[in-house]
Parts: sequence; C-alpha cells; structure tokens
Amino acid sequence: MKKPNIVVLGAGYGGIMTTVKLQKSLGANEANITLVNKNDYHYQTTWLHEVSAGTVHQDQARISIKDVINEHKVNFVQDSVVEIKPQENIVKLENGELEYDYLVIGLGFESATFGIPGLEENALMINDINSSRLIREHLDFNFAEYHKDKNPARLNIVVGGGGFTGIEFVGELANKVPELCKEYDIDKSQVRIINVEGAPTVLPGFDPELVEYAMNSLEARGVEFITGALLKESKPDAVVYEKDGKLNEIPTLTTVWAAGVKANSIVEKSGFETNRGKIQVRPDMRSPEYDNVFVIGDCALIMDENSGRPFPPTAQIAIQQSATVAHNVESLVKGHKELEGFEYKPLGTLASLGHNDGMGVVFGDKKLFGWKATFMKKMSDNRYLLKLGGISLLLKKGKFNFFY
Ligand code: FAD
Repeated sequence: MKKPNIVVLGAGYGGIMTTVKLQKSLGANEANITLVNKNDYHYQTTWLHEVSAGTVHQDQARISIKDVINEHKVNFVQDSVVEIKPQENIVKLENGELEYDYLVIGLGFESATFGIPGLEENALMINDINSSRLIREHLDFNFAEYHKDKNPARLNIVVGGGGFTGIEFVGELANKVPELCKEYDIDKSQVRIINVEGAPTVLPGFDPELVEYAMNSLEARGVEFITGALLKESKPDAVVYEKDGKLNEIPTLTTVWAAGVKANSIVEKSGFETNRGKIQVRPDMRSPEYDNVFVIGDCALIMDENSGRPFPPTAQIAIQQSATVAHNVESLVKGHKELEGFEYKPLGTLASLGHNDGMGVVFGDKKLFGWKATFMKKMSDNRYLLKLGGISLLLKKGKFNFFY
C-alpha cells in the first residue's frame, strides 16, 4: 500500500513541534513526512527583540533543524513555499513542487504596515533572524558613524507600536544603549529611545497595574512614550506622527515598526477562504474547505468564545495546537475517524522589559513583577527547548542568566 505523504510547511513553533511529535508517533513504514522551511534552522521568534537590540546573539536564538529531526523519518527540504494548490494537493516551491496527502500550514506571520507611506521602504521590522540582525547592525553603524557627521538623527531610535513586541524591544534597547554609548564613546544623554503608540496607553488590553509598572521601569531607564499618536509617514531621515490633530516630526535614521502583524500572505494568495487574512479553522484545526489541510500558529484563526474576538497569535497557542494537529494527522494516517478538538489552555502572559525586568500574569490571575517575571519567562523558554530537543538542546541554547 502507498504510504501517505505528510507535508509540513514552516519550521516555526507550530510546524517544528508538529513534525517532532509526528516523527515519534508514526513509524517510517507508515508515512513519508516532509518538512519545508526557508532556512536550515528553526528560530525562537519570541527572542527576536533581543536579537534586534543585540542583547542575544542570533546563534543562540536559532537551532539547526537537523539537530531536532530524525533524518531517518523526516525528509527536510530547505526551500521557499511560493503557493499552495489545495485543489490539486500540490505545494509550489521556488525550486520544485511537492505532492501531499496531508498538509500542515505553519508559515507564520509578516509585518502589517496598513498602507502607511514610507514604512516598507524606510522602517526596519522584527520579522526573522535576518531582519533582526539588520536592526542590530544598523544601530551599531549609526553609533559609529555619529562621530563623522554628528547628525543627532543617528541617535534617535523610534519604535512604532507600544504593544507586546514594541515594549519588549524598547526594554532591550534600554539595557543595550548604555553599552553602545560606552563602546562608541557617546554621551548617553544624546540618545533617545522613543516609543510611539496610537492608543491612549501602551500595552492596550493589559492590566493597568502591569502597564504602569512597565512604563515606570522603562521611563526610569530613559524610554520616552508618545501615546495617542498615530504614525503617519516614515521618511529616510524622520518619522511623522499625528497627535491631537497636529502633525509632528522626529528626525531619525532608525525607525523600527513593531505595530502589527498579519498571517503569511501565501495563505490568501493561494485562494483559501480567510478571515482577517487567516484561515478560520474547524475545532480539529482543519481548514473549513479541505479535509486534508491543517493550519497552525499565526496562519490559523480561532475565536475566543468568551471575548468574541480571535485568540491573539502567540507561540504559546501554536505549541499547544501542535499536539492536536499531530494527533489528528496521525489518526487520519492510521484510518481512525475520530479527530480531537483543540482546546486552548492559557498559561499566562509575561513580557520582558530587558533581561533583568519584566511583568505579567500567570496561573490565571497571579501578577508577577521584576525578577520573578523574568525568571518565569526564562524558565518557560527553557521548558520549550527541553520539549523540542531534550537536555542537550537546553544546555546548548537555554537561558541561565537568571539573576543578572
Ligand atoms: P513562526 O514561529 O513565525 O515560524 C514560521 C516559519 O515559517 C519560520 O521558520 C519561517 O522561516 C518559515 N517560513 C515563512 N515563510 C516561508 C516560506 N514562504 N517558505 C518556507 N518557509 C517559510 N508569543 C508568545 O507566546 N510569547 C511571547 O513572549 C512572544 N513574544 C514575541 C516577541 C516578538 C519580538 C515577536 C515578533 C513575537 C512574539 N510572540 C510571542 C508571538 C510568536 O512569536 C508567534 O505567534 C509565533 O512565532 C507563531 O508561530 P508560528 O509557528 O505560526 O510561526
């Protein structure tokens, strides 16, 4: 009998965890498993703000795919997905195509720029390892170059968006800037870190006590907040924002856009039925139209019945979904009819404010601040590494700087 082809697209949290689970639950004689990813590594998207600020090296945040897959069971294809043809069960890659019986789409997110003029051309984005490394190099270059032309715009760092990513990034910058100043002989008072947020407060949706804690911690380390301000344009040497009906300009050569993400546009371009650019999955994580297509992570949309809004896209939900997706793919391969439904169990939300400060909520409603929050966040990162690649991966890539 022909072995079914399982193809997993994307080695992000959802895709790699599904693959690792499938390689354990299916024998090599039961199915062909193929994992497709742009790069030969999986990266910790949740650490990209640290890679961008230069507080974590990119090599700590990326993990060779061959270190976590069993090559006897999984065929890894390093290539870029161009299009999915779900009616023909085909995936088009830059360098060929793949046929599948079961497909898992885990292609992650892209920045959403909402048509704001100049953002695509002039702003930097925290999207992947390469775009994050570019931000780090760009910061270094501008600090070094400042000695040549004394252009103050080189030392104004503007971060668009005071949501989770924007706040975590300014937290890292607040730690990194003093180091950069020392390295490049620059007086710290000349450097500005400016966060521009459209809502009346940063971290909209967070508990007000946590927001206040975050703002106080960051302001004490020199971060400036401009809230209720809409970014209107990004120019090569400035940003323009509107506040109280007035346009204002900040001279800057560094604008980092961290104010919006959307699902990978391949999903929409491939003709899937979408809701806010994502595939609204059935309870068993399959697309509404195709019985053999599963969707995971930031490409999938699941409504939270309590709030009437979609669950936010997080690594946490992507990792939890991988258990359901892997279980259901295995069931179909083994000819079982019953598929299980996905049930999200929120484990809490923790935001870092630099490597030695943080805040968040765990165990339902327990608020954590300061080192306790960073400790818990690092433990949760370490737990993920342990699940993905065991103790050796944890020792190689884990975060053990708990108290400094
Ligand atoms: P991703 O992890 O984004 O992975 C997608 C994969 O697909 C990547 O390997 C990519 O290279 C690959 N890929 C993309 N396009 C193609 C293509 N065309 N061909 C081949 N391969 C492709 N969530 C939390 O739960 N907690 C946090 O603390 C947290 N912090 C965050 C901090 C930052 C700075 C950011 C940016 C996000 C954070 N998130 C956090 C959100 C979380 O990272 C995402 O929700 C999560 O990464 C989504 O996982 P995923 O599996 O859908 O895709």
